[in-house]
Amino acid sequence: MAENWALALHGGAGPLRPRDHAGAEAHMAELLREGQTRLARGEAALEVVHSLVIALEECGHHIAGRGSSPNAIGQWELDAAIMDGRSRNAGAVASLRGFKSPVTAARLVMEETKHVLIVGKGAAMIAREHKLERVHKPKKYYKPAVTIPVKKGELSHGTVGAIALDTKGRLAAATSTGGLLGKTPGRVGDTPIIGAGIWADERVAVCCTGQGEYFLRTNAAADVSSRVRYGKQNLKAASDGALEDLNLLGGDGGMICLDVLGHVEMPFNAETMKRGVVTSAGRFEVATMR
Ligand code: ASP
Repeated sequence: MAENWALALHGGAGPLRPRDHAGAEAHMAELLREGQTRLARGEAALEVVHSLVIALEECGHHIAGRGSSPNAIGQWELDAAIMDGRSRNAGAVASLRGFKSPVTAARLVMEETKHVLIVGKGAAMIAREHKLERVHKPKKYYKPAVTIPVKKGELSHGTVGAIALDTKGRLAAATSTGGLLGKTPGRVGDTPIIGAGIWADERVAVCCTGQGEYFLRTNAAADVSSRVRYGKQNLKAASDGALEDLNLLGGDGGMICLDVLGHVEMPFNAETMKRGVVTSAGRFEVATMR
């Protein structure tokens, strides 16, 4: 048990896009190798998920951080959250404008304020106070990973997420998103909502991806934990059950889930989910398709 650790990442679930996934998959494999080294030498799950989400925000392969698209009035409003399982400390920002790493702003909310979720100008104020790196010229900095929906009228979206178990048995989760392409200003999805898009406690860690409204309506991430805690389900049954609930409402997407024993489940009902996993038991996978 002492040497048990695990890490899973995702780069968003959605329709099959006519594109080459090799670059995004190679980058994810690199991040998994980095996380593997750090977790194996005893680094805290919280540090690992935070810095890997920063890397996913910076890489531009996904609809988060640099790869995000503007909202309906041409502004970039981003959401992110982070949660530490053992303490259940959590921090989140929504509709944050003008900073490179929304997940770092979320961590500031967790560690430097008495609050859990701060939106808009208040979130920017905290980020500014702590001198987070700014985006001064959004049109130059952001390189939207997706610019046109695959099908007419489809709501395109994406997110990144990381969950980890460290050798001290601590779980953590972090997630960051540009949300929906062309979204209504002020629209917030599930990603920064603790319990809907992200969860970590002493038993499980979960990050969700897909159209956020459905995950909000099913409180999907915390539902996985409840199924394990009260329903005594194993992680597979719990994550499949939570996704089935979403399916019944007509929602699609997926989730990465990890339990304190190091089991990882990554169910999705969308056509694709960019995902990767590495565990101390020797599992290593990176995939986009089923
Ligand atoms: N859940 C995100 C949102 O609705 C998008 C995604 O995960 O694809 O903002």
